[in-house]
Amino acid sequence: MSASVALDRRDRGGPAQPLLHVDHLTKYFPIRGGLLNRTIATVQAVDDVSFSVRKGETLGIVGESGCGKSTTARLLMRLVEPDAGSIVFDGDQVGSPGGISVNEMRRQMQMVFQDSYSSLNPRMTMAESIAYAPRMHGLAHKEAYDRAESLLAQVGLNPRQYARRYPHELSGGQRQRVNIARALALEPRLVILDEAVAALDKSVEAQVLNLLAELKEKFNLTYLFISHDLNVVEYMSDRVMVMYLGRVVETGPVEDIYRHPRHPYTRALFASKPTLDPDRRTTEMPLTGDPPNPINPPSGCRFRTRCAFAEAVCAEKAPALAAPLDGDFDEALPHLVACHLPEAQRATRGPHA
Ligand code: SF4
Repeated sequence: MSASVALDRRDRGGPAQPLLHVDHLTKYFPIRGGLLNRTIATVQAVDDVSFSVRKGETLGIVGESGCGKSTTARLLMRLVEPDAGSIVFDGDQVGSPGGISVNEMRRQMQMVFQDSYSSLNPRMTMAESIAYAPRMHGLAHKEAYDRAESLLAQVGLNPRQYARRYPHELSGGQRQRVNIARALALEPRLVILDEAVAALDKSVEAQVLNLLAELKEKFNLTYLFISHDLNVVEYMSDRVMVMYLGRVVETGPVEDIYRHPRHPYTRALFASKPTLDPDRRTTEMPLTGDPPNPINPPSGCRFRTRCAFAEAVCAEKAPALAAPLDGDFDEALPHLVACHLPEAQRATRGPHA
């Protein structure tokens, strides 16, 4: 890709510095009602979420619907304003004096959504859609359209065939390829993929996943990969973060989490994952029931109403995300769990009836 749009792509802190660091991110959505339209309740969508994404890695975020993974993505892009918390992009705090502006951050951090059709303007051709952002950032008309055609080719669509087509003339998989090309048009460093393959047929999904892996290598990208599909997250991710009802309950390297999930929620979630591998079959009880209402979540550990191991302490205080006491600790790639009871203690006591 040409470097004509003047982007700041400096690698300020070197490879060791996280590209994205999120601290205590919180968002409660107000519910209004009554004659005066006052706030009568709040939906605790994201509550005190902290994590980092290293340069060049893919961090997968998993959890049931409503766990806050998509809201987290929207908060990062500032499509929704956070109530509290900070977002630091390559060492610069987003939206603070002396830091990086929201506009500049959005040039370096792009997002691909699940719905490929509503993501595109139905009145714009594919080339116009891809060229739009570079044009807005000052790239000359010809250069912007040359870049659009080059990107169409990079995502596997022949520009001569597809550049002048409209969204309704393409299949879902082709439209999602265009959305990926559009996300790359400003030469971002981090791409958030929010259920980007969830609406595709399995064969098309595999092609798009392989395309994403290729593009990551080619353009030295970092991904935040959000999905409810545990198999897809395992295929794509280097590290995984598991969310439940707006909070992070477990995070660590993908192999550790998939081979040895430690949090009772992660274990139950993975028990519902179909597998043909006899070594990976589980005797864990799968999750039952719906998550509690985020308007009035349980006190202490939010998973306690569905957890077979809950004790009195679980209702009293929220468990912090920490290294398990009964495991090895890898400082470079820590496996962290938010649970009051060590795994060995849970195994000894067994689940409550
Ligand atoms: Fe279960 Fe308590 Fe651990 Fe929460 S803190 S997962 S309720 S044992």
